[in-house]
Amino acid sequence: MATPFSEILKSYRPKFERVKILDATLREGEQTPGVSFTIDQKLEIAKKLDEMGVHMIEAGHPAVAPDVFEAVRRIAWMKKEGEIRAEVIAHSRAVKSDIDKAAETEADRIAIFYGVSDIHLRAKHRKTREEALSIIGEMVEYAKSYGVKVRFTAEDASRADLEYLEQVVKTARDAGADRVSLADTVGVLTPWTAQKFFEHMVKAVPNVEYDIHAHNDLGMALATAFGAVMGGATAVHVTVNGLGERVGIVPLQLFAVAVKVHFDVELVNLSKIMEITRLVERYSGIEVPYNMPVIGDYAFLHKAGVHVAGILADPRTYEPFPPEMIGRSRDYVIDKYTGKKAVKAKLEKLGIRVDDDTLMKILEEIKKSNLRVLTDDTLVSIAEKVTGKALRPRATENIEAIAWIKVDSNVFTSSVARKISMIDGVREIAEVTGDYDLMVKIEAPDHKVLNTILDSIRGIKGIQSTHTQIILKKMDKSTS
Ligand SMILES: [Zn+2]
Repeated sequence: MATPFSEILKSYRPKFERVKILDATLREGEQTPGVSFTIDQKLEIAKKLDEMGVHMIEAGHPAVAPDVFEAVRRIAWMKKEGEIRAEVIAHSRAVKSDIDKAAETEADRIAIFYGVSDIHLRAKHRKTREEALSIIGEMVEYAKSYGVKVRFTAEDASRADLEYLEQVVKTARDAGADRVSLADTVGVLTPWTAQKFFEHMVKAVPNVEYDIHAHNDLGMALATAFGAVMGGATAVHVTVNGLGERVGIVPLQLFAVAVKVHFDVELVNLSKIMEITRLVERYSGIEVPYNMPVIGDYAFLHKAGVHVAGILADPRTYEPFPPEMIGRSRDYVIDKYTGKKAVKAKLEKLGIRVDDDTLMKILEEIKKSNLRVLTDDTLVSIAEKVTGKALRPRATENIEAIAWIKVDSNVFTSSVARKISMIDGVREIAEVTGDYDLMVKIEAPDHKVLNTILDSIRGIKGIQSTHTQIILKKMDKSTS
């Protein structure tokens, strides 16, 4: 990706090559309003994160609840069994009972947090600066006595008194912490202040590694993480889909892709990005907004005629990186503003080739239709109307289909089967083993009804994926 700045960017590359990604979806992510993962969901997310190559997984705060404890213990166990490679971290307050619980999970590392700004010291801890220092030193030492790695998180570090923060980090380091996380708890850093902040701390208190934990309250988290790395941070805290307290922290997918695009460093396996996006969408119940960079539905959807023409000539005109890099593909909006080239490209994508005359007629129909967004199906219908030909295989009567269904691990297959059996058109259900859990036989008078039946099946809660095989008994096929 040659840019006029490519030479300058190259000199920054080593800083990003050594960065470790810490994913906190299971801890910080579960602090998103309304989000609560089951233990099984957490294990599945942890495995998927590990598959992607995330370096550290912050698995939870064991003292919070028995199920959180159990999830952290089981993820730590997966590590011991060699099922995952990432370092497993247990969160803990600077309290002995929390540290005991964290140690009991046998996680690789205990992360102790303490608010170090005057606001936090006064309002939350009701401690003086000196009292806080001795608590931090004592608790880091106590955690170390369990023989684990220890990280100290300076909560609200970005609003703390800088000289006091230096004392805090020195205390944690001298007590045995090999990493210190400087948290931008309310998201007030900017890329340039973050860079200066970390440069200062690395120089003032060396011989300890620094993490950046940046909150997104002002939409700056991703940029702040870049600034922090430039300043010397060697670990970046992220969550899948940017989940976290309030509006969350740095989204894993955006950070990983931006590092690849700018510095050609692939920190995690980018081809897995959409898989983890969907998995966490489903388990968190929070959908990614359409216009979310990189992972949103609109990230590679082109609309204006000029843009589409440019994209068709050379996709680099309006794309910073090819969608294929993360296993996606580009698409075009078809509506009354759409130009000839886009409609032609879209029809070809759907396997339909038309001459120029027909294309103009189709375009006229689209303009007349006045729909906000034209679906592929409507476009094909218009093309069929203009050409007078059936442009897709169509069963005139009696379609039989087999739907293979995978059920979420945390729901009962039998309860899903019962719900499916109540849908009209479902003839048979059998529980199966292997890649899928259920086999459903469906009969429908035509493809429209079949689609409705499949949609109702997919709409049942607890269904993870479906695969449909269609047996066309009688087909009236004519394609151009
Ligand atoms: Zn946080």
